[in-house]
Amino acid sequence: MAEKNQEVGGNVISKSIKDEDGEFVWEEGPNSFQPTPAIVKTAHELGISSELVLADGSLPRFVYWSGSGAGTKLANLHALPTNLPGDLLSFNLLTWPGKIRAGLGAIGLIKPSPQPPYEESIREFVTRHLGVETFERVIDPFVSGVYAGDPDELAMNSALRKIHRLEGLGDFGPGLVSGAINRFKEIADEKSLNPPDPEWRTYKSGELGSFRRGLQTLPIAVSKYLGPSRVRLGHALKSLDREPGGMFVATFDTEEGEKVIKAKAVALTSPTKTTSKVARKLVPEAKRLEEVYSPPVASVTIAYPKSSFKDLPGGSPSSPLRGFGHLLPRKMGIRSLGTIWSSSLFPNRCPPDYELLLTYIGGARDRGIADMSEADIVDRVNKDVRKVLLKDNAPDGKLLGCRVWPVAIPQYRRGHKEILEELERGEGKVEGLYLGGNYRTGVAFGDCVGFGVEEAKKIKEFLKKEGKVRAKQEA
Ligand SMILES: Cc1cc2nc3c(=O)[nH]c(=O)nc-3n(C[C@H](O)[C@H](O)[C@H](O)COP(=O)(O)OP(=O)(O)OC[C@H]3O[C@@H](n4cnc5c(N)ncnc54)[C@H](O)[C@@H]3O)c2cc1C
Repeated sequence: MAEKNQEVGGNVISKSIKDEDGEFVWEEGPNSFQPTPAIVKTAHELGISSELVLADGSLPRFVYWSGSGAGTKLANLHALPTNLPGDLLSFNLLTWPGKIRAGLGAIGLIKPSPQPPYEESIREFVTRHLGVETFERVIDPFVSGVYAGDPDELAMNSALRKIHRLEGLGDFGPGLVSGAINRFKEIADEKSLNPPDPEWRTYKSGELGSFRRGLQTLPIAVSKYLGPSRVRLGHALKSLDREPGGMFVATFDTEEGEKVIKAKAVALTSPTKTTSKVARKLVPEAKRLEEVYSPPVASVTIAYPKSSFKDLPGGSPSSPLRGFGHLLPRKMGIRSLGTIWSSSLFPNRCPPDYELLLTYIGGARDRGIADMSEADIVDRVNKDVRKVLLKDNAPDGKLLGCRVWPVAIPQYRRGHKEILEELERGEGKVEGLYLGGNYRTGVAFGDCVGFGVEEAKKIKEFLKKEGKVRAKQEA
């Protein structure tokens, strides 16, 4: 394995410090994952299952919203329903007309207008099925939370392809609920065909996962498993060729100068800009990856004393935060995208007198974040957190981390599907070359791990076949 940086993990970066108040553990990239069989299997195989921590799935996920016909809620924090239809009665983020429009659309009693002949954006798809209000108050902040994206630019069939597929999947018309019923059946069938190993850590739907010392535990464990002789840090790939005999020739820039590594198979999981440049000689279609846009995002972690928090839903003075965090719809005019209540999710993220918050800011609709100083970003985040969660007289918190990601999350915009289809055709012509990375696998941490696990099986098969062919040729 070769990596440009001096540590493994890519944008998975977990940090910790101990000071006079105690220990703080935080993330500077992704904050958590939805548990999947691939993650728990990998954790088991690496011997880190006992490090897995799962956040209670019943903790509420909040949307901050005030006014425009929504009902009132403590601190304007509306918990998204987890128990349907029971929670709908108290769910007043949507107005009654908004709820009725969404409900009738979801079950197909209001038929969505036909799909347009072009790739639909997320806004168009959701509005067609569930109405404007559900889009603005629920889906818009969700898109900020997952992609830091612009729902007018993101293509529904690529960015939210699992939901997009529901439209054609149901037995009772195009309503999403009908599709979801059949999808649940599919999931149950898939599970019975591939039952989890009883030794793997179990998890329930709705739970979110991490590791005791943060997400970077996983890539660090992979790197330990491989051992130092097979992990080359500080190796920036600059070209990839193939010898007439079939061996790949990878050339790296390192601190000690240029280095060449030859390999029978290559899996390239670098971000689009690098892959586009390096792979295009062997796969000309990779050139188009330069069209994939990844906006800047900053992650800011601040710890505040528990005494600084307002009265919040489900909270108490000894435990003011009870939830996953809050998302901020663009209509609310608050610049941050949302805040993860890290210390409410996972144990031992900060000393008992504190709460730890991770706020993301920037994204496709706020590209100017890349030009701001770190001090200004922290100041903005502090003001945004204050508005939603803190008492007016709360002192400034303890700043732990501010990291600006100039190229954060690839946006699956209109045309993305075509770029990937072309890439796949090109890749298919170069035996032994495997192209991965979050521009292709899905952007979620779990999607990246799942894709990696499946690709590893293919590479193993390829090398086995290759070994047999060579042995025959040499015999
Ligand atoms: C701020 C932020 C928050 C996120 N939050 C979440 C979340 O909460 N939950 C979730 O599921 N997902 C989240 N994501 C998405 C998820 O973390 C990523 O999609 C995923 O980790 C990407 O993994 P990757 O291996 O494809 O890419 P990367 O992590 O970008 O890895 C690419 C690697 O390639 C290396 N590289 C680049 N150029 C070269 C070169 N020339 N030679 C050698 N190596 C090179 C890089 O150094 C890097 O290590 C978040 C992403 C960001 C940026």
